Amino acid sequence: MRSTATTLERTRARFGLTPKRLAADTAYGTGKFLDWLVGQEIEPHIPVWDKGSRDDGTFGCSDFTFDPDLDQYTCPAGKILRQFRRNYTVARTDSAHDGIRKYRASQKDCQTCELKAQCCPNMASRNMLRSVHEEARDQARQLAGTPQFVTSRNERKKVEMLFTHLKTTLRFERMRLRGLSGASDEFHLAAMVQNLRRMARLTAAAAA
Ligand code: SF4
Repeated sequence: MRSTATTLERTRARFGLTPKRLAADTAYGTGKFLDWLVGQEIEPHIPVWDKGSRDDGTFGCSDFTFDPDLDQYTCPAGKILRQFRRNYTVARTDSAHDGIRKYRASQKDCQTCELKAQCCPNMASRNMLRSVHEEARDQARQLAGTPQFVTSRNERKKVEMLFTHLKTTLRFERMRLRGLSGASDEFHLAAMVQNLRRMARLTAAAAA
């Protein structure tokens, strides 16, 4: 996150540019990073890093509906999952631990539920974990697959292909010069070689 903030700040200072969207791969799709980006008013064109999906056929996160006003989930059987099911002497308002909130279904509801085998076959009742950054994650999910997202993804791939080409075809796998100016010179030379190769290919194609 810090390196992205530095890059954005430098781009702003040097070119006067403030991006409206940012494209990156799933490694950047964490709740914390997406939340930070949304806070900067930059659209996250980034696939969400989702560990909530299940591959055993039981209901996943998308089968439950979250109501932000009531701060509760509704399960596929129409029952409510809340953070707190007991009446505490001092009312509790947030169960967040390490950035995750836990919403619990009632054992009474789950044990008599016809959908239990599809929902929580090995547990007395169903729990749902929700990141404190879930709203930003939802925003990123809604953007995924939109025409703007697809354009960003294609543009990102074009840039990343150049780095892949440098590493795999031109064998530019590590810097040989040290220091910022050494790295800058070496990288510019590598980019020049790459552009010359491209020019030669395009010129040959045009002449053919
Ligand atoms: S098992 Fe519980 S949480 Fe799952 S669908 Fe049934 S009532 Fe809802």
